[in-house]
Amino acid sequence: MTVREGSLEAPTRHPLDWKSADFYDEAKLEKELERVFDICHGCRRCVNLCTTFPTLFDLIDESKTMEVDGVAKQDYWKVVDQCYLCDMCYMTKCPYVPPHEWNVDFPHLMLRAKAVKFKKGEVSFRDKLLSSTDTLGKLATIPVVVQMVNAANKSGFARGLMDNMLGVHRERVLPEYDSARFRATARPDTSFPVKDGKNTPGKVAIFSTCYVNYNEPGIGHDLLKILAHNEVPAALVEKEACCGMPKLELGDLEAVERNKEINIPVLAKLARQGYAILAAVPSCTLMFKQELPLMFPADADVRAVAEAMFDPFEYLILRNKDGLLKTDFKQPLGKVSYHVPCHLRVQNMGQKTRELLEMIPGTRVTTIERCSGHDGTWGVKSEYFEQSMKIGRPVFRQMAEAAPDYISSDCAIAGRHIKQGMGETTAQKQHPVTLIRIAYGL
Ligand code: SF4
Ligand code: SF4
Repeated sequence: MTVREGSLEAPTRHPLDWKSADFYDEAKLEKELERVFDICHGCRRCVNLCTTFPTLFDLIDESKTMEVDGVAKQDYWKVVDQCYLCDMCYMTKCPYVPPHEWNVDFPHLMLRAKAVKFKKGEVSFRDKLLSSTDTLGKLATIPVVVQMVNAANKSGFARGLMDNMLGVHRERVLPEYDSARFRATARPDTSFPVKDGKNTPGKVAIFSTCYVNYNEPGIGHDLLKILAHNEVPAALVEKEACCGMPKLELGDLEAVERNKEINIPVLAKLARQGYAILAAVPSCTLMFKQELPLMFPADADVRAVAEAMFDPFEYLILRNKDGLLKTDFKQPLGKVSYHVPCHLRVQNMGQKTRELLEMIPGTRVTTIERCSGHDGTWGVKSEYFEQSMKIGRPVFRQMAEAAPDYISSDCAIAGRHIKQGMGETTAQKQHPVTLIRIAYGL
């Protein structure tokens, strides 16, 4: 029998079989890890994507047999711990993804391993805390507490304590919290008539996301201004919890399900009422478009939400295609170094943010499509901070080379990480949504 090198058919993704007993069976997991690691050892295409593959290949190359069978099973966890589930190996490199008979889904195998680890209770207090973005945000944005938290995040003494006691690296620049939460201060305008386009619903519901709600409400306000300028009626999703991505990355799939039970009924109702649902954080849109449908393949509500969910730039570019987007940009942006985050790339919709930025007169966009190395919480952790900066180095360099007026990433966390990595720079960091608001002169 000949095994074909790669597949000529479109890649498919199998649902995550996380409700079956086999999923959490450690012996079966080890067997599957060994099988896939062996395929990767023979392939090695992904060596430069992240530190997961170099860790695996070093373990193999330094073992007695120089094969996967020479690697101690407990060392498999070193590989698992390096993966931050960006999905890039699956989406951009791997020729052996389904329907290829080898059926390699490296990120979902790592996710299964993380879920097994979580079930065994082998997850630190720090990791549970960092992935509780909603709880942290609610506490940290209480008036008075917010000043203390923001001051502590900038104090060398407090950061030293956080590093030693909690495992949050002292040099990582952390986002500030804002007591004027987006959901409490947003004033969406519902007064415009609904104009449906061929490709876009004519009314929008905003899923605010933990980050925009607690850390950078300005991004949400700017999105509302852009929608109002284009006479699109907008509403806030009436009730929301975290999308679940941080818990997914931790392997806490039951917590993902709990959040899904809060979000999906509300969002599905909006989807069926004909709303486009917009979220300005790529990881959150990815969660609703891809991860939840793979975890709950038979759930019609989850499917309805996935179909109604848009990245803001995906929506605006489709709106333009419908002839319903205003292009009366008044303010040139000059030179913009724009970074495409992994969780946006894997949504397979092309570079919609770049397209819209390039429509602004007097604007030159340099696009960098490479992992910045932060991930949601991975690059914050003391043990991964250095690697996170190392992975990001080519991005920092390429962003700086264009001598930009602005640096920007759809992922606000990656944007901050890139600014930190660039060091001294006169460039302003702004989210792409804010850049569009500036260009409109709003
Ligand atoms: S999902 Fe991302 S971090 Fe994980 S192994 Fe693949 S490329 Fe590396
Ligand atoms: S994930 Fe696929 S492309 Fe990457 S090293 Fe493994 S087999 Fe090769």
